[in-house]
Amino acid sequence: MHDLMGCRRRTALTAMAGATSFLSGRSGARRAVAQPFDPAASNAGHYRFRVGEIAATVLSDGLIGGPPRVYAIDAPEDELRNALRDAFLPTDHLTLNLNTLLIETGGRRILLEAGAGQTMGLNGSRLFANLAAIGLTPADIDAVVISHMHPDHVGNLRAADGGRAFPRATIFAPRADWAFFVSGQPDLSYMPVPDDFRRRFAAAIKRSVEPVAAGVELYEGGAEILPGLATIAAPGHTPGMAAFLVHSGADQLLLTTDLAYHPVVNLDRPWRPGPDRDPGAALVARRSLFDRAAADRMPVLGFHYPFPGLGRLRKTDAGYAWVPAAWQFRLSETQTGQATR
Ligand SMILES: [Zn+2]
Repeated sequence: MHDLMGCRRRTALTAMAGATSFLSGRSGARRAVAQPFDPAASNAGHYRFRVGEIAATVLSDGLIGGPPRVYAIDAPEDELRNALRDAFLPTDHLTLNLNTLLIETGGRRILLEAGAGQTMGLNGSRLFANLAAIGLTPADIDAVVISHMHPDHVGNLRAADGGRAFPRATIFAPRADWAFFVSGQPDLSYMPVPDDFRRRFAAAIKRSVEPVAAGVELYEGGAEILPGLATIAAPGHTPGMAAFLVHSGADQLLLTTDLAYHPVVNLDRPWRPGPDRDPGAALVARRSLFDRAAADRMPVLGFHYPFPGLGRLRKTDAGYAWVPAAWQFRLSETQTGQATR
């Protein structure tokens, strides 16, 4: 027991050291630098597909990231390094995507997750350029449904002028998370990051949701937000986190929200995300939904997985394997039963 605790303390300190340099910009080469959006030097940040009758478009809000240890808190040091190296990823920084999903159904446009904006680094906020790229403005969004209150999921709710970024949208947020992060003074001492990071993290949440607080619709995990969009209680990462199920006829898509951060460390390997508040509950939710996805061969969207974040989970002897979906050039290719199931 003492050994385990000692080991935990060491890994947390290692993660903190990395997070400190990430936040302060002292790490030099890895420091995020805001680049003006240049369409001529960019690939597409949107990806269209269908779930039955529902039109779906992944809209990237850009990238965040940090020390790999933060996202794989219980990984043995050498195994973590080898897993990253085997995946041809840097060993000192793990990049996470921000894959928000727009669904269009019943004459309404619903955005699943608001994205980070620049609450967690300067490489967020691309959602608005990607909305424009498909001919939409924030005023075209009827609802924004948030899985949990972390800044990378709510950051874009606040416009630069302090107003509502999505002026017409009804905002749906999980009730238990609102109580913990917004109404309360959250104790974030469980997060393997420096105090300064925790303070800014907590402040970014309150600041982001302040313009929408008056009209927010709080939901319980399990609620059907509208026909074709169900929430699934998946607490553990945060008190009220939900996963999402988009469904139409026999077709469905499971959004695993933050049950996992990156397939290489949380799916292909069983390591635990450091920011999980209740690791036991998070593990139960993760296993339950991942097992269901694997058994039913469900299409899955991971909010933080490499863009566009679509694929499937296969059960293996050791856990799971992430199998990214092939890029589809025509919507009709994803509409046939054979292709989606
Ligand atoms: Zn997240």
